[in-house]
Amino acid sequence: MDVSELLESLNEKQRDVVAAPLQNMLVLAGAGSGKTRVLVQRIAWLMQVENASSHSILAVTFTNKAAAEMRVRVEKTVEGNVHGMWVGTFHGLAHRLLRMHFQEAKLPQNFQVLDSDDQLRLVKRIVRSLGIDEKRWPPKQMQWYINGKKDEGIRPQHIEVYDDPTEQTFVKVYQGYQEACDRAGLVDFAELLLRAHELWLNNPVLLAHYQQRFKHILVDEFQDTNAIQYAWLNILGNASSKVMIVGDDDQSIYGWRGAKIENIQRFLNEFEDTKTIRLEQNYRSTANILNAANKLIANNNNRLGKKLWTEDEAGEKISIYTAFNEIDEARFIAGRIADWRKEGSLDDVAILYRSNAQSRLLEEALLQSRLPYRIYGGQRFFERLEIKDALAYLRLLNNRDDDAAFERIINTPTRGVGNTSLSLIRDAARSLEMTLWQACQFMLKNDELKGRSAKVIQNFVNIIDTLEDDSSHLDLDQQANYVIQHSGLKAMYQAEKGERAEARIENLNELVTACQTFEADPELIEEQTKLTSFLTHAALEAGESQADDYEPAVQLMTMHSAKGLEFPLVFIAGLEEGMFPSQKSVEEIGRLEEERRLCYVGMTRAMNKLYLCHAESRRLYGQEKFHKASRFLRELPPECTEEIRLQNQVTRPSTKGKFSSTFTLETFENSGFSLGQSVVHAKFGEGVVLNYEGSGAQSRIQVNFADVGSKWLVVAYANLQAI
Ligand code: ATP
Ligand code: MG
Repeated sequence: MDVSELLESLNEKQRDVVAAPLQNMLVLAGAGSGKTRVLVQRIAWLMQVENASSHSILAVTFTNKAAAEMRVRVEKTVEGNVHGMWVGTFHGLAHRLLRMHFQEAKLPQNFQVLDSDDQLRLVKRIVRSLGIDEKRWPPKQMQWYINGKKDEGIRPQHIEVYDDPTEQTFVKVYQGYQEACDRAGLVDFAELLLRAHELWLNNPVLLAHYQQRFKHILVDEFQDTNAIQYAWLNILGNASSKVMIVGDDDQSIYGWRGAKIENIQRFLNEFEDTKTIRLEQNYRSTANILNAANKLIANNNNRLGKKLWTEDEAGEKISIYTAFNEIDEARFIAGRIADWRKEGSLDDVAILYRSNAQSRLLEEALLQSRLPYRIYGGQRFFERLEIKDALAYLRLLNNRDDDAAFERIINTPTRGVGNTSLSLIRDAARSLEMTLWQACQFMLKNDELKGRSAKVIQNFVNIIDTLEDDSSHLDLDQQANYVIQHSGLKAMYQAEKGERAEARIENLNELVTACQTFEADPELIEEQTKLTSFLTHAALEAGESQADDYEPAVQLMTMHSAKGLEFPLVFIAGLEEGMFPSQKSVEEIGRLEEERRLCYVGMTRAMNKLYLCHAESRRLYGQEKFHKASRFLRELPPECTEEIRLQNQVTRPSTKGKFSSTFTLETFENSGFSLGQSVVHAKFGEGVVLNYEGSGAQSRIQVNFADVGSKWLVVAYANLQAI
């Protein structure tokens, strides 16, 4: 691409950025204004016009995926090899530096990176070796503390401990943990950043080398940098290089993880002669979507202030769908996607939500409609660690010979079963050709396990037997709840700290809800218990592989992971008070504003069409509750939105008979039936209409029958009567 082409496709402000003289720059601009695009073009400009060598360029992005894309885009634009360029996330770049300069970083050459689970295991070991009570000082909390300190650049010796016994304990563990890491050559994620920072501080010659080398530093999504990342950049970039940062204060959504919006202000103060350029034209979204997002974010205080406009036409209005419950919401979304698929590609569709637990129902609806999907940056519901743990308990209650379940939970939560005991049991099972459970029984009976080992294994056997005795007479959801509580799983996850632990608890609660709404397969119910039937369902859903890479698929993700991305068609699910904004954030203005920014990020992912969905009632924690629509919906301008409402007044027969609500619904084309309508079938009894597909003689209707669960029926033969 020659120089004029480089600038051709840009507006004037964007051109000012791409073709700017060598200087420090802040590009502050709203969503979809081309920040990422100008950053890439700027790199191409530097190489082609300023004759910058690719070795002199360092670009920082937010995800590895974004880094890979950036490299490809630059390569295409400059039509050449850009191997010398460093592009990556802060963590990725720090890792690379430490590998290259392990000696200066005082690390062994073969140092290992610890992931978060490995880190927790090590923290646990330290806590134990220091004789600290794990119940009082949960290792997960320690891990959170250690990472928090590292993100701030603080080592144990920097912490002044006065008479505070809590802090004393924390620091002791931090110290012990760090010594263990150093002895074994282990580096956790936060340590990567901290070490890379110290590498600069302790090695002036090396630092000078990199300062000389990286004459051009460019950082995307700057609003989400934390203290240590900023400090690292500040040292590297302040001498002979020019730094360009791009960001949007309205999209700062990682405050809870230590990101600091104030870094934008600091940058202006600490980097000399920084030129600020604002981009104001949005190229991503239709006017309706953009205006609505602008209006929403205007409710936040202390913004750096940006105008954002588009030449694009108004486009379709944003559709707000009021579902009568969460199942209806999921089915509505799947229905609309099925329509879209007739003409569009599934790759162009994203479903966004606040928390991962919400994916389960959406996954179910997509599976039912045979719409391939991919979960971006996360696992499918039934594959999540905590769900697998809980299911393993249920599986073992159901069938003691389930060896995989046995292995999974024998020591989860930890109950002192050591590897030696486990190997003994495994050996015995192998030679006696028994299952692990049978081998335990056998060894206990014949005194083949000694002392402590016998005690802990007996204890485990008792736990499982007691759980079954106490819970087998309960309804499926109550049984699941009982097992989650009394197995110690819930307490174990509760003792952890932070967002991830909260998400795990949410998922466990969602499992209870899943049991409650599970409609056992009517064909199998005679021979199987409801538990068996549910476990089969869970296994099948987990086993269903994600869409293949090459196959077009709907993308499911949290709004956090949607940062920087764009899709022609976007659905946001669960816009309800208490869900989004989350309950906790409502009580604190700072957090509420961060939630609003998250909503802004979510909405501005949409290019052509946006659906915002909420459910009037939702089962949460196993309980059906009414939910008010999210305040964010009220903050949108009415002229940009349209409500999709139901047309007939119908009563919702609730599955557990606790309440009913009235609502209106669209009538299915010429069928005489509408979503949510109560009907009766000669064989299956009473039920509620859930879905409809096809037309004419082919049309099928899905009904949720009170007795036999949900079924698809051919309308022409079903002979349904409205009631
Ligand atoms: P976000 O804040 O969400 O990260 P962004 O500011 O980084 O957004 P980009 O992703 O760079 O925005 O651009 C948004 C969309 O607009 C992209 O599809 C991009 O190709 C397009 N775009 C940007 N500038 C122009 C332009 N001058 N002409 C045409 N399309 C443009
Ligand atoms: Mg971007």
